Amino acid sequence: MLHSTPVRVRFLGTGTSHGVPMIGCDCAVCTSTDPRDTRSRPSIVIETSPGFHVLVDTTPDLRSQALREDLRRVDAILFTHAHADHVMGLDEIRRYNHLLKAPMPAFAHETTIREIRRAFAYIFESDAPKGGGVPDLRLFPIVGPFCLGGQDVQPVPIRHGPWQILGFRVGRFAYLTDCNGIPDASLAMLHGLDCLVLDALRRRPHPTHFSLDEAVVMARRIGAARTFFTHIAHDLGHAETCAQLPNGMALAYDGLSLEM
Ligand SMILES: [Zn+2]
Ligand SMILES: [Zn+2]
Ligand SMILES: [Zn+2]
Repeated sequence: MLHSTPVRVRFLGTGTSHGVPMIGCDCAVCTSTDPRDTRSRPSIVIETSPGFHVLVDTTPDLRSQALREDLRRVDAILFTHAHADHVMGLDEIRRYNHLLKAPMPAFAHETTIREIRRAFAYIFESDAPKGGGVPDLRLFPIVGPFCLGGQDVQPVPIRHGPWQILGFRVGRFAYLTDCNGIPDASLAMLHGLDCLVLDALRRRPHPTHFSLDEAVVMARRIGAARTFFTHIAHDLGHAETCAQLPNGMALAYDGLSLEM
């Protein structure tokens, strides 16, 4: 049965590539006591249907994120792109191989698959036991919409500086991290959303990420009922930034859970 929208989305991490706090920074956000100002590297888990968990990206913080959220099950992985902050926790997938006694299906654009194979040559070229010594992965290239866990997954090409990477639409939910432009053809895939997650790095412009102002403009254009911003740097304090955002928009934070 196809469900109209996922049942739940959980934010494993909402920070930019350095994480917040940043190593060696004493700024107000890095030293904040508000737990929503602590941001691990960006990732979500989409429960596409009851009990079916799709992990989006495998960050360097995956182990601590999974322990924090007591994430005992991952049925499939979607990769947005192969930047280090999105893939460097791939080795942790061994635990899910063991818990589920199965190889892990992972879906990505063929460019991302090539980069993962290169960055993790020890996984693909090793004679170590699969699922114990190295993760047991099945990589599938994304060539268009496909069905996963009772949902249609729509890949959404987005601009990330000089790169084109993938966001994903699942039902009336969409996740667009690492983004500073959305082509018209992709905007056409984003009508009628209940919930949008969009990159908003900081206030100052950046060559590969939306600034907060740019993200608000884009969020208005897409017009989802609710928008949450992610991939957030230490420039943006959670409480003061949220107080200034338009209705229906907020910064996401680690551990935020959205019931759909
Ligand atoms: Zn700082
Ligand atoms: Zn990136
Ligand atoms: Zn990133």
